[in-house]
Amino acid sequence: MTQVPHFMSGRRVEGTSGRFQDVYNPVKGEVAAQVPLASAEEVQGAIESSQQAFATWSATNAQRRARVLLKWVDLINENMDELATLLSNEHGKTFPDAKGDIQRGVEVVEFAAGAPHLLKGEYSSAAGTGIDVHSLRQPLGVVAGITPFNFPAMIPLWKAGIALAAGNTFVLKPSERDPSVPVRLAELALEAGMPEGALNVIHGDKTAVDALIQDPRVKAVGFVGSTAIAQSIYLDAARHNKRAQCFGGAKNHMVIMPDADLEQAADALIGAAFGSAGERCMAISVAVPVGEATADKLVALLRERIDRLTMGPSLDESSDFGPVVGKDAKERIESYIGIGVDEGAQLLIDGRGATVDGHPHGFWVGATLFDRVSPDMRIYKEEIFGPVLCIARAADYEEALRLPSEHEYGNGVAIFTRDGDTARDFTTRVEVGMVGVNVPIPVPIAYYTFGGWKASGFGDLNQHGTDGLKFYTKTKTVTTRWPSGAKEGASFVMPEGS
Ligand code: NAD
Repeated sequence: MTQVPHFMSGRRVEGTSGRFQDVYNPVKGEVAAQVPLASAEEVQGAIESSQQAFATWSATNAQRRARVLLKWVDLINENMDELATLLSNEHGKTFPDAKGDIQRGVEVVEFAAGAPHLLKGEYSSAAGTGIDVHSLRQPLGVVAGITPFNFPAMIPLWKAGIALAAGNTFVLKPSERDPSVPVRLAELALEAGMPEGALNVIHGDKTAVDALIQDPRVKAVGFVGSTAIAQSIYLDAARHNKRAQCFGGAKNHMVIMPDADLEQAADALIGAAFGSAGERCMAISVAVPVGEATADKLVALLRERIDRLTMGPSLDESSDFGPVVGKDAKERIESYIGIGVDEGAQLLIDGRGATVDGHPHGFWVGATLFDRVSPDMRIYKEEIFGPVLCIARAADYEEALRLPSEHEYGNGVAIFTRDGDTARDFTTRVEVGMVGVNVPIPVPIAYYTFGGWKASGFGDLNQHGTDGLKFYTKTKTVTTRWPSGAKEGASFVMPEGS
């Protein structure tokens, strides 16, 4: 059985804990490899290696670090097909979608290559008589990233790209479900010129995560995953005196106003709800058509489109979406469909028991459509994280605005309308962190920041963009006075601001 190695101090390292987890090929439904689950001691070894690399990497000037990042981008692009294939085979998303996963990560590394500019501090000349003040942004030291299965390239690159650009060294604990791509990314970073240990990858479960959080050498933790774990890591990190940004689950709504182009809205919804089998934190899982007439038309358009969707093997060009990541995910999603039926939602299209020719053991869940879903139902309240779209009809705009605003989660939301006034009111008032106007999945580009509100994010700084740089640096403020010399004598008075 193939073993996915850890990557430490510039080389592949086998696990020594004796604990392993199976890594599946979700199309075949078979075990493809095993990943070692690190012991606390192995994690401490990774931290030690990154601690040693910190001296060299943080002393390398920011422009030279940026050149290494740009070379890393080149190497990732040169190896794009290999990486995307590896990613599809472990995650189950289609090959073009896997390339998108890598590409959105690469864009953040490109942004991070602006580090020489982004790390500039502030300067005030003559803040007092003979006094100048300036600030520096300095790296924290060893920092850690704990990332989810659904974007095994993008999210590690978002975190490591920015942290490394700022001069930190990084220990990545990727998802144990699809661990191979992160290891290849770290190998390419080494090839690009990053010092050994600057980017270590250690696989594991709660034991590894606890070891990272409890170690005083780790100065910051960036987490992305489900809400319960995000919250517990946020609290735990604070208890161990380290900064944390922890992003959680989602239930993203798309409001469809009566004046929207419904064909366009239906096309957008299909991609946003069923792309990547709904396993995106920015997937739309609730459609909110305003008014019964809008809802009826939308349902008809969705039915036609769902009938034309092709679920199939990830590497098959004709597939619109692939399997879900695991047997447990398939069972969870199918159980939610049963819950929805029991709760009285109208199941229009049932994806349970879906099959794909030639792949009888794959983790298939077909596109599923519920109508007349209400806010008291579990299928509305809870994150299903699969290809299940719920329609929650709203009587008017105010009700449509209230639904995402009052939902426990607040990651992404979209409104489809042709009216600027409605769009403007919606973007101003909705209680959600990332908003799309006629854009179904409003993932902000690299030089803006990414982060949800409410139960979708814990911590005050978002991922990537300038917030990313703030998160992975600490500010030092220097007040300088060059006395004009002995001729003025010493001052015993506290200097004032003006
Ligand atoms: P998950 O919470 O199961 O795992 C995330 C990470 O935490 C993994 O590295 C995992 O090994 C680790 N982990 C698992 N159990 C742990 C425990 N008890 N203690 C400490 N660490 C633990 O999430 P997942 O299933 O990999 O990913 C899907 C979830 O991630 C969804 O809820 C999705 O919405 C969310 N997500 C959110 C965002 C965002 O930006 N808000 C982005 C992507 C995914």
